[in-house]
Amino acid sequence: MAEYQKILVAVDLSSESDEVLKKAQLIASEEAVLHIVFVQEPMDNVYVGIVPQSAAFSGLGDLEAQLGEELKQKLTVLGENFRVSSDHLHILNGSPAREIHRFAKENDIQLIVIGSHGQKGLQLLLGSTANAVLHGAGCDVLSVRIGALKLH
Ligand code: AMP
Repeated sequence: MAEYQKILVAVDLSSESDEVLKKAQLIASEEAVLHIVFVQEPMDNVYVGIVPQSAAFSGLGDLEAQLGEELKQKLTVLGENFRVSSDHLHILNGSPAREIHRFAKENDIQLIVIGSHGQKGLQLLLGSTANAVLHGAGCDVLSVRIGALKLH
């Protein structure tokens, strides 16, 4: 089997991102290019349909921009820790699964690496980001079970 040359690692910038990246680097060949992708979801998406005209939305743009800066810094630190060049760090905007699919297609990604918690109960019913990415992906997807990685 040919090795994966172009790998997308999806991170939510929480502490579990290290685990997902460690696994991606374990399976990546020397020549492979790793792209780290974080998708920032628009804040008003969360409440649209519930309180669409809410006064609480005014000023969200500023808050979102400030949040975007902080997330960018977190991604930069992650890139430095894992020696991934800044050209390969990406912040996209929108729905995580849709943006990950779009990026993968546009950049000829051969493998998507994503974290998974093994959801139970309501979470299982609603579906996880990993499930959403798996369904509809045009390439292989590796779902890294969070909490299961043992490195020596
Ligand atoms: P979740 O299903 O939301 O618990 O997230 C599981 C995994 O999906 C994370 O470990 C990441 O690999 C990926 N993920 C979740 N949210 C995002 C996001 N906003 N951007 C990129 N990847 C994400």
